Amino acid sequence: MREVRTTFQLVLDQSMESDEELMRLAVGEAAAARAAGEVPIGAIIVIEGEIKGRGQNSVISRSDPTAHAEMMAIRDAAGHIGNYRLTGSTMYTTIEPCAMCAGAIVHARIGRLVFGARDPRAGAVVTHFEVCTSEFLNHRVIVEGGVLESECASMIQSFFREKRELD
Ligand SMILES: [Zn+2]
Repeated sequence: MREVRTTFQLVLDQSMESDEELMRLAVGEAAAARAAGEVPIGAIIVIEGEIKGRGQNSVISRSDPTAHAEMMAIRDAAGHIGNYRLTGSTMYTTIEPCAMCAGAIVHARIGRLVFGARDPRAGAVVTHFEVCTSEFLNHRVIVEGGVLESECASMIQSFFREKRELD
């Protein structure tokens, strides 16, 4: 809980470091996913300086292929505020979202997306598609990548390296 309060203060201070500080919370969610044996991806959603949603990748434990970190954070935030639209929110996610999550981000009307590392395999925001910024959509998301990039990428890489060594 102390972590949350610290971040909240940083947001209020409009600190230049707040994107990194908030991404660190998403990294914490990714670490929790990893501890549960899932691919380490985490996300949080901030609305008006408050953390309203948290999510960790949990596809295996939930037997749910849609239980990506971003989907879980969106469901958590929408439930908390009692609104299916997360207008004016910012999502922090450790890895560039896939096509499903990028679509959900647009449907949720998330205002800003900050991601850590690109996903060369399935990234649908800048790498393979531009789902969040397509000119065909009514809603466009402000997208920023590369926040705590090496940390976010190395979590994934070491997870798969360990997995290969175990196999
Ligand atoms: Zn996804």
